Amino acid sequence: MTTAKDYRSDLKPVWCAGCGDYGVLKGLTQALADLDILPENLAVISGIGCSSRLPGYTRSYAFNSIHGRALPIATGLKVARPDMTTVVVGGDGDGFSIGLGHLPHAIRRDVDMMYAVLDNGIYGLTKGQASPTTAVEFKLERHLAGATERPLNPVLLVLSSGCGFVARTHAGNLPHARAVMREAIRYPGFAFVHVLAGCVTYQKPSYAKQIYDMCDMLPEDHDPTDFARAVEVVSQERFALGIIYRRPVALEKAGQALPIATAQG
Ligand code: SF4
Repeated sequence: MTTAKDYRSDLKPVWCAGCGDYGVLKGLTQALADLDILPENLAVISGIGCSSRLPGYTRSYAFNSIHGRALPIATGLKVARPDMTTVVVGGDGDGFSIGLGHLPHAIRRDVDMMYAVLDNGIYGLTKGQASPTTAVEFKLERHLAGATERPLNPVLLVLSSGCGFVARTHAGNLPHARAVMREAIRYPGFAFVHVLAGCVTYQKPSYAKQIYDMCDMLPEDHDPTDFARAVEVVSQERFALGIIYRRPVALEKAGQALPIATAQG
């Protein structure tokens, strides 16, 4: 049996102390150990950004690739090597701005991988600009009057694009992040995980608390196969945490038989 430590490289993370990305790295390595996936059977792919440094901190086949291009690279890898467990990580700028055009098409292709977006509502690596998910009312160090454009609802976008597995977690809730990522990796198709994370350096200290206070666990009787309910859940202002939508696996397996041909057809 593997342990979380088996998935950590010798590189020491250069993230700021208190960055939410630490929690995601820890939750991911724990989830991989839960599933006992051997590091030599694992590929972790990212784009560019603070959170996209994560593959370097894992012991796996790791690729810190091109800005916004992690999904097509991971798709090519998984199609060529279907035996590899494929994990894609990145930030909200990388995934919802520069790389947004790739997201619905990766969902359509439905190639088996987990895509975890570490959403801190900011461009951290380039020192604090507003990202596609920065809420208008949140004043950033570099946007004292607040962001001027309305934020994207990435989870609604992913759901409406037909994603078979849609979940949300919070980087500060390690057991929850671990469990959600474990289920996403197990899912036999394209699985999207929205991870709420904080940037302690370029956001006001109150930001993380504001986001945390807006989170609610999905009720125990939430039915993740109910698409209409899932749309309702992600259309609310508050952040529901848990597995929001999960297409029944039997249907997903049938859809997986010809993932690329389906997309091209
Ligand atoms: Fe994390 Fe922000 Fe520091 Fe980047 S700048 S490592 S997102 S705390």
